[in-house]
Amino acid sequence: MTARVLVVDDVIQNVKLLEAKLASEYFDVLTAMNGEDALEIIDKEHPDIVLLDVMMPGMDGFEVCRRIRSNVKSAHIPVIMVTALDQLKDRVAGLEAGADDFLTKPVLDLPLFARVRSLARLKVLMDELRMRETTSQDFGLSIGSDLNRNISLTGAKILLVEDYSRVVERINRYMEDLATVDVDKAESGEISTPNLENYDLFIISLGLGETDGLRLCSQLRSSELTRRIPILVLVDEGDSDQLIRAMDLGATDYITRPIDKNELQARVKSQIRQNRYANRLRENMQKSVEMAMTDAVTGLYNRHFLSTHLDNLMSRENDSRKKVSLLMMDLDKFKLVNDTYGHAAGDEVLHEFARRISNDIRNIDLAARYGGEEFVIVMPETNLEYAHFVAERLRRSIGDMPFEISCSEKPITVTVSIGIAIAGDDNSTSNKLLAAADSALYQAKERGRNQVCS
Ligand code: GH3
Ligand code: MG
Ligand code: MG
Repeated sequence: MTARVLVVDDVIQNVKLLEAKLASEYFDVLTAMNGEDALEIIDKEHPDIVLLDVMMPGMDGFEVCRRIRSNVKSAHIPVIMVTALDQLKDRVAGLEAGADDFLTKPVLDLPLFARVRSLARLKVLMDELRMRETTSQDFGLSIGSDLNRNISLTGAKILLVEDYSRVVERINRYMEDLATVDVDKAESGEISTPNLENYDLFIISLGLGETDGLRLCSQLRSSELTRRIPILVLVDEGDSDQLIRAMDLGATDYITRPIDKNELQARVKSQIRQNRYANRLRENMQKSVEMAMTDAVTGLYNRHFLSTHLDNLMSRENDSRKKVSLLMMDLDKFKLVNDTYGHAAGDEVLHEFARRISNDIRNIDLAARYGGEEFVIVMPETNLEYAHFVAERLRRSIGDMPFEISCSEKPITVTVSIGIAIAGDDNSTSNKLLAAADSALYQAKERGRNQVCS
């Protein structure tokens, strides 16, 4: 993945060094040598990531970071603070100013590329989420506007795979206010904790006594249930071979021992947030797909979906096309229900009607709302006799039991008329089949309603 990275440092050699390293990995690099220039470039060029030196004359890195965060146009851009070695105070101040991550000088290749890539992935995800949110708002469907940084960490659950009790105890302490930590020692060579899919994050030690942590990473990545859950690996300082392999196997971030409290907290937060973003994105997508296919009042498929589905069925090459039966249903004197009890009561009746017919058909049958109070049921592999049988059963399941609705004290009696058509030489296209069912329905209305015609 490539990204536009803005490097900000007051020392020209540092700028040049970082620029060369990043460019060698095909990142697109912008540079600035003071805070003011950096803010101007951010405003104009919208970089994907900012690498920000803390110590600069004039406006220091913390102030630049605060300003990035306080501007709505740049608040979502990830910032990595570059601090001098072991400046713990700087890290805390950086977090408070809104930094997402840290690198220490001198900046080494592995952490540099790992951090930049991880944040670039997060940025892509956030941009996508922001865009979809805008689209949903355009449709009048806001799914919630707690964008980017405000995803909550409430109820976060971590599985720590570590057999060294001092480390376990320490991580537990560091995570106290942040998340619940379950511990698995993986003594049998496997993770034995159940329901792994309920965790927000796995922290895996690569220094387990009995077990190969890399193998655990690869198992978590190959299982459908845990594939998307982030993995933070614990490595010994300087063990870059293990680290490179872990990142290749799909670990999403790492932390080196001895563990620094602020760093651990920052990484855990960012990993969990990233995962929750991704989950929300998927849920939203599923919702929009459902909304595009279904009708809001009844939850049945809508007319557009029905047409597409029916066209597909009717265009099949073999004989199965001829076995499609179609029921067209229309509520009798429905206008009267609206006029007597109100439109809301009418909606409730439609909802209950849809529920009854859905319960009364097979899985392979498809029920759709065709118009206001008109419904269609498509039944593949069904002959006329069976279609009649089903239609009669549906007619009775509506007419025989009055509808209980909240707007009316006494239940309302509702009846339905049904027209049946079956695919054949005369009804060879979806439009012809629908028209045939419609004229059968008309006949049922003519003959006095509450009946089935074909
Ligand atoms: P018929 O037996 O001939 O079908 O009589 P009808 O009154 O059902 O037929 P008509 O087509 O004249 O009226 C249909 C009514 O359905 C009119 C409209 O107000 C109502 N309707 C259509 N869509 C909705 C809806 O989404 N909610 C409610 N409450 N009513 C609806
Ligand atoms: Mg009607
Ligand atoms: Mg009608």
